[in-house]
Order: sequence, then structure tokens, then C-alpha cells
Amino acid sequence: MTDIGVVGAGAGAAAAAFVLDEAVPGADVTVLEKSGGVCGRAATRRHGDLTYDYGANYLKADDERVVELVTETLDDAGLVDVAEPVYTFDADGEVSPGRDADERKWSYRRGLTQIAKRLFGRTDATVHRRTRVETLRRVDGRWALDDADGEAWGPFDALLVNPPAPQTADLLRAAEWESPIRGALVDAVGDVTYRSVWSAVLHYPFAVDVPYYGLVNADREHAVGWISREECKEGHVPDGETLLVVQAGHEWSVERYDDDPAANVADLADHAAAIVGDDRLAAPDWTDHQGWRYALPEGGVDRGPAEAARREGLYLLGDWVAGEGRLHAAIANGLDVGGRVADGL
Ligand SMILES: Cc1cc2nc3c(=O)[nH]c(=O)nc-3n(C[C@H](O)[C@H](O)[C@H](O)COP(=O)(O)OP(=O)(O)OC[C@H]3O[C@@H](n4cnc5c(N)ncnc54)[C@H](O)[C@@H]3O)c2cc1C
Repeated sequence: MTDIGVVGAGAGAAAAAFVLDEAVPGADVTVLEKSGGVCGRAATRRHGDLTYDYGANYLKADDERVVELVTETLDDAGLVDVAEPVYTFDADGEVSPGRDADERKWSYRRGLTQIAKRLFGRTDATVHRRTRVETLRRVDGRWALDDADGEAWGPFDALLVNPPAPQTADLLRAAEWESPIRGALVDAVGDVTYRSVWSAVLHYPFAVDVPYYGLVNADREHAVGWISREECKEGHVPDGETLLVVQAGHEWSVERYDDDPAANVADLADHAAAIVGDDRLAAPDWTDHQGWRYALPEGGVDRGPAEAARREGLYLLGDWVAGEGRLHAAIANGLDVGGRVADGL
């Protein structure tokens, strides 16, 4: 029996587990996830009749294997394609058509978390939610883990580590692992910097009449980075209602990260009203919010130390390993890493 441990249940980890399930039929795959759900930053919540993606907004068709995975290999029932375009706005909040580079903008009727749910659902992997890994230990050439409740997991023949780079760096720093490659690996992972995003979700009991799904701040000079309308995703919002996802830019998000959420939401609602040009949007009738400290990696990890770690059965994976803060990149990286783990066993 081959035992494989996975830290984190993001889309990257789900894709790797999916590959391993086929490639190593006898493997016992154990996934430990700190939160109450799977799919990490491709996150969906429900409130009454509302379904909304409050992290990643959509999956784009930039990787052929990922396109084939979601449209053919996995059940494509409930996959929805946003037809309306993305417009831009500038530092003054001036909206212009254009820059709709993404031909496909996918989510699911039940939200983007379906990706990891469907991938894990095709495997025999066991996913333990609300299990935060605190310590990695190298014991007799295998990996063991301790969670925040003091429970020990493993030993594993291979360990996959999916959290964003700063969290992975913390785990590697605290690891009980003697190795000449460890210092360089910690440095390489610790060097990956992130953009933060503070998101407000704003509901209105009326429809807005605009031709776009989303608005992106192309010059990155505005406090707001992105606004989109969840009602453009089939099944997310009842007819005649509006649900905006307003994502602040990095500087605003860092400065206001720990401020009173109600004040942050109110400020972002004011911005949305001004940018969309509809005063009613300053007064949502229901709101939600989420801070994403490690939202988007600004680059990729240095490949050398990450590849050296594989020789010790330690595999890093996710968007920051792919070098692109995008959902399709995380999934594609998970597919690659799953294959490498299978080859390495
Ligand atoms: C606000 C925002 C907007 C975005 N917009 C888009 C978009 O429109 N399109 C797009 O393609 N991408 C977008 N992205 C990026 C996309 O969400 C990510 O690239 C992708 O989801 C990353 O997946 P991953 O598997 O690499 O990691 P993650 O999704 O980060 O998964 C890592 C998992 O590890 C878990 N974890 C962390 N530490 C521990 C621990 N100690 N123990 C156990 N578990 C742990 C986390 O809870 C998480 O579930 C956006 C992201 C954000 C935050």
C-alpha cells in the first residue's frame, strides 16, 4: 500500500488527487484541509436563494487539458458560461468597453467549488476538513504530519503541499526535517510575494441595466480592482435582483485589511455606485465580505529548490508553483504534479 498525504484541498490538490487515483490505483490518499470546505480561493457561498463566487470569479479556457477536464472528463452538467463581456474602468472610474480577453468565463450553477468537489468525488481520497496542519516531520524517509489538535497523521510515502507560498513557507520553517536543501527551499518559497484583495458582496432587490458582466481597473490606479455581477451566472441570483462582487485593489486591501468590515463594505458600495453610475448601489440591502491576504501570487517559486524537494518525496503545488495566480493554472499544475508523484513512487 502506498500512502500519500496532501496538505490543503485547493483546486490544485483536487486535480493532483484525481490523477493519482487513476495512476496509482492502490494508493491511499489523505487530504487535510484547514477550512470547512474544499476548493480554497475558488470559493462559493450560499445565502437563501443566492449563490456567489467570492474569491476567483471564473475559470477561463486557457489550458487545453483543463478545458477537456471540465467539459468532457468531468460531468459538465451545471457548468455555466458567462456571456456578457468584461469592460474596463480607469483611475477616475470612467468605464469603457473592451479588454474582454476571455472567450470563456466558466462557473457552475452551484459555484466554482464544484471543480474540487467533482474532482475529489471521482477519487477514493479521504478529505478531512477543519484539520489545520501545523508540523511536517520527516521520519525514516517518510513524512508525518501533526494537526492543530495534536493528532498525528501518516507516515506518507509522498507529501503534497498546496497552501499559498507564505503559509507553505511557515510549514517548511517549522518542519522537523534535516536536509541540505531545506534552507534554499524555505527561502525560495518565502520569496513569492502576493497581492491582497478585500472583497465585498452587495445584494440589491432590483436589477441594474448595464451591458457588462464585469469591470476591471486596467490601470490599477483605482481603490477598486474589480466589480462583477453574479446574476450573469445562471442559477446564482433570482431574476430581478443584483449581486455585486466588489474586489478592492492591493493597496486599499492592505491598508484597510483589519478595519471595521461594515465601514469597508460601505466604502466599496459607494465606489461601486460611482463607477457603475447608479446611486442606488450605495445602499445594498444585504452584504457579505472576505479578506484574502494571500489572494494572487505575483510570480512563481524558483524551480530549482522545488524540484530538489521532490527527491525527498515532498511536492509543492498550486498557482504559485505554476507561476500564475489563476484557477486554470492551479488545476493544470495539480495535474502535472499528480503525474510526477505517480512517476516518483
Ligand atoms: C479575490 C480573488 C479573485 C480571484 N479571481 C480569479 C479569477 O477571476 N480567475 C482565476 O482564474 N483565478 C482567480 N483567482 C485565483 C484563484 O482563486 C487561485 O489561483 C486558485 O484558486 C488557487 O488554487 P490552489 O490550489 O493553488 O490554492 P488554494 O485555493 O489557495 O488552496 C490551498 C488550500 O490549502 C488550505 N490550507 C492552507 N494552510 C493549510 C494548513 N496549514 N493545513 C491545511 N490546509 C491548509 C487552504 O484552506 C486552501 O483550501 C482569484 C483569487 C482571489 C483570492
